[in-house]
Amino acid sequence: MRKEDLGRIIEEKRDCFIAVDRKVWEYAETAFVEFKSADALCEALEAEGFAVERPVAGLETAFCGSWGQGSPVIAFLGEYDALSGLSQRDGATVKDPLVPGGNGHGCGHNNLGAGALAAAVAFRDYLKASGKSGTVRYYGCPGEEGGSGKAFMARAGIFDDVDAALTWHPGSVNAVFPFSSLANFQVAYRFRGVSAHAAACPHLGRSALDAVELMNIGVNYLREHVIPEARMHYAITDSGGFSPNVVQPKAEVLYLLRAPRTPQVQEIYERVNDIARGAALMTGTELETVFIKACANVVQNSVLEEVLYRNFTELGVPAYSEEDREFARKIFEGIAPSERSQDLDQYSAPGGKAGKEAARRLRERPLADEVLPYGQSEFVLPGSTDVGDVSWNVPTGQVWVATWPNHTPGHSWQITSSGGVSLSHKGMLHAGKVLAAAAADLLDDPPLIERAKEELRLRLDGDSYRCAIPDNVHPKPLNSGR
Ligand SMILES: [Zn+2]
Repeated sequence: MRKEDLGRIIEEKRDCFIAVDRKVWEYAETAFVEFKSADALCEALEAEGFAVERPVAGLETAFCGSWGQGSPVIAFLGEYDALSGLSQRDGATVKDPLVPGGNGHGCGHNNLGAGALAAAVAFRDYLKASGKSGTVRYYGCPGEEGGSGKAFMARAGIFDDVDAALTWHPGSVNAVFPFSSLANFQVAYRFRGVSAHAAACPHLGRSALDAVELMNIGVNYLREHVIPEARMHYAITDSGGFSPNVVQPKAEVLYLLRAPRTPQVQEIYERVNDIARGAALMTGTELETVFIKACANVVQNSVLEEVLYRNFTELGVPAYSEEDREFARKIFEGIAPSERSQDLDQYSAPGGKAGKEAARRLRERPLADEVLPYGQSEFVLPGSTDVGDVSWNVPTGQVWVATWPNHTPGHSWQITSSGGVSLSHKGMLHAGKVLAAAAADLLDDPPLIERAKEELRLRLDGDSYRCAIPDNVHPKPLNSGR
C-alpha cells in the first residue's frame, strides 16, 4: 500500500467516522461521565478488529484500542468530553441552545475523538499491508476539560511502552502545534464555620464565606509577587446558602493555579495554602484542602512536528464547499472585532516572516484555509492541556486542523454549532489523514522515532515525569459534589 492510499481509506469509511462524530456531538457528555461517547468509539474500534481494553487506569470512560504486535508502538490520542452550558443547535449562526443551560461540544472534542479514530483505522490498514512489526493504539482519553484524564492515565503508566504519540485539536487554523503550555493544579478550599442569626447573634457565628472572601483577597495581593507567566483563577463553588440573615457555616472556592513548570505551580500552591490557612485563622473557621487534579506542561518535539508539517503541507487543506464557506462567513461576520480570538496571530508567529504574511492574507477570511508556515518555538501558550503529561513520557506531536471559522473564540456556542456541520467533519477527516500519513513515515523510517526520543531526553535534561496528582486522589466528575 502506498502512503497516498491512506486518504482513500478514510474517504471510503467517511460515513462511519462522521456517524461516530455525530453521536458524540449529540451525547455531549462532560468529564468522566462520557459513557455513551466512549461506547460509540469502542464499538467502532471493535468493528475494525481492534482489541479494546476498558476501563484503563481505573477510569471507567477511558479505554485503549490496540491492533498488531511488537514495536514500534504508535499511539493516537482521542478526546470526547463536552462542556457545560454550551448547548447549541448545529449549523445555527446565532446563539440558539438546543437545551437551555445544557452541555455542548464547545471545544470540538467530538471531532477530535473521531479524527483520531480515522487515523488509527487508516494507519492500521497501512501497517497490515506493510507486513512489518508494529502496534497501533487508540487511547480514549476522557475528562480533558477540567479533569486532566491523561494525567491520571500517565500516573498509572499506561503510556510507558509507547514509542510515539500523535494527536490533534480542532481549531480555527491549520497548523502544527510547536508550543509548550502551562502546568496546572486544581484545588478546592472548603471552609467550615458556625451558623447563627446574622442580626440577633452574629457574635456566635463564624463565617465560612468570610474565609473564602479573605482568602481571595490574599491571593489577589499575591498576584504581584509571583512570576508573570503564572495564572491564578478561582470560582466560588459554594457560597454557603441564599440567606443573608444566616452566618454561612460552609463555603468552598475552587482554584486553578498555573505556571510554565510543575515545580513553579507547586511553589505557588504552597503560598496559596498559607493564605487559606490565614483566612481560616482570621475567621475562626476550619479548612479542608481537596486536591482535584494537575497536569504537566507540553514538551515539544520538533522531530515529530517536522514530520507532521511535511505531511500537512503535502495534503493541504480540505476542499470546502460553498455551503461550508457560507456558514463560515455568517459566523465570522457575527464576531465583533473586539471578540475575535488571537489564535491566528499567535499560531502564525513561529513561522517568522512567512507566518506573518500568511496571517496578513488570512486575517479577513472567514476560513483560515492555508497551512500556516511552521517554525520551532519556545513560546508557552497561556493555557493548559493534559497532552502535557503524555509528552513527558513519550515523544508527542500535535496539529490543529480548522473545524470552525477564523477568529472564533474558544469554548463558545459557535464551536458547538460548527461541530455538527460538514465544515468540521471535513476538518476531522483531514486530521485523520495528516496523522495517519505521519505515522506511516514513522513506521517506514525508524531512525525518526529514535531522533524523537533523543530530543525528548535532551529537553528533559535529566528530569523525569512525576505526576503531580497525589496517589490517593482519583478522578471525579465535575459537579459531582466532590
Ligand atoms: Zn479542547
